[in-house]
Amino acid sequence: TFEPLVSDFYNYESLLTGQEQAALLALRGYLEAEVRPIIGGYWDRAEFPLQVVPKLAELGVLGYAWDETRAFPNSAMFRGFVAYELSRIDASVSTFVGVQNGLTCGSIAVCGSAEQRAEWLPRLASGEVIGSFGLTEPQSGSDSAQGLRTTATRDGDNWVLNGTKRWIGNATFADVTIIWARDAADNSVLGFIVPTSTPGFSTEKIEGKISLRAVQNADITLENVVVPESLRLANAHSFKDTAKVLRLTRAEVAWSAVGVAAGAYEAAVAYSKERVQFGRPIGSHQLVQDLLAKSLGNITASLGMVVRASEMQDRDELRDEHSALAKAFCTSRMRETVAWCRELFGGNGIVLDYEVARFFADAEALYSYEGTREMNALIVGRAITGHAAFA
Ligand code: FAD
Repeated sequence: TFEPLVSDFYNYESLLTGQEQAALLALRGYLEAEVRPIIGGYWDRAEFPLQVVPKLAELGVLGYAWDETRAFPNSAMFRGFVAYELSRIDASVSTFVGVQNGLTCGSIAVCGSAEQRAEWLPRLASGEVIGSFGLTEPQSGSDSAQGLRTTATRDGDNWVLNGTKRWIGNATFADVTIIWARDAADNSVLGFIVPTSTPGFSTEKIEGKISLRAVQNADITLENVVVPESLRLANAHSFKDTAKVLRLTRAEVAWSAVGVAAGAYEAAVAYSKERVQFGRPIGSHQLVQDLLAKSLGNITASLGMVVRASEMQDRDELRDEHSALAKAFCTSRMRETVAWCRELFGGNGIVLDYEVARFFADAEALYSYEGTREMNALIVGRAITGHAAFA
């Protein structure tokens, strides 16, 4: 039976179809049994539990979004709840899926030809191929649209790529990376499916992260990397095409942010019942109840927003500013919420034995990646006023 989560106060999940609910329950069962018990250790050691990949593939999580690979027709709201479910257990695992399914498959689905979709989407959905997405560079993050420096030079039937990338998730163990580069001839932005075994392609893991430690991020160097024309994304001609991918993934990051807040909140509710101070459970103190009520308000309002954004996506009505607002708003509410929930744990809130510490730390990366709060506010500001205020 489908019991609403304690974090889903208004039972938004009841809006899903029976088939979607069953798929979500199967995922929940797996994550609770196999991922929750081990993930803190992986986070601590800054290692990714690669053994989850085949199981996530088997559960359909890596291919739900695409006609070629999904087990059954499903809604954007369902896929949002998948991101929520993953994130309320662990944001690193959810980020892995976001990179594999959202950014990598998304680039190929949105910008690839029918042949490229047919060749790559099933292999990515089965986990046979691990993907990553290389847009950000050491000198260009928020200003990727203008600041991208990696070059692609046409050489007969091939392209030669040169440049550097930074922060690229999954890249240390990926089989392919989507590399966004500027056409040396006319400066337009192009995308390439680059096998990571290509000579001249090298990665270096970014060490010392205090957030999303289980996800691997890498610096990439491209030195005369030769890729055939057949691996150029056929329908990527400018940054506007890259932005079409980001519009979808940003909405999903908003869902993940609500999931992270939900994970912290669920941990806080449980702790408020077991921790006793002044002779009674801390949950019986007024100010502790206030922390819980404020957190639940943030989660419930954010869920309302992402549920509606997903409905708009299914109707093809979701614009860049809609997903930008959801990303900026939900990650801000998440950041508040994880801080309140961590506060509720007192000293125990800063040790990994209590999951809330991991949610608290991981929230920082979600707040900044896929467009910082400021950049998403500027996308919304442009829609409100008609004035672009980026530069
Ligand atoms: P900067 O652009 O240097 O920004 C620094 C600060 O300046 C921010 O607060 C920003 O909001 C502010 N700022 C910049 N310009 C303006 C302006 N015009 N007005 C107001 N404020 C401004 N990238 C990928 O391509 N692939 C990945 O897989 C990937 N994974 C990531 C995973 C993690 C854990 C992290 C942390 C990042 C990842 N990124 C990835 C990169 C991420 O998208 C960038 O970090 C993000 O876009 C911000 O860029 P930046 O870090 O260079 O910050």
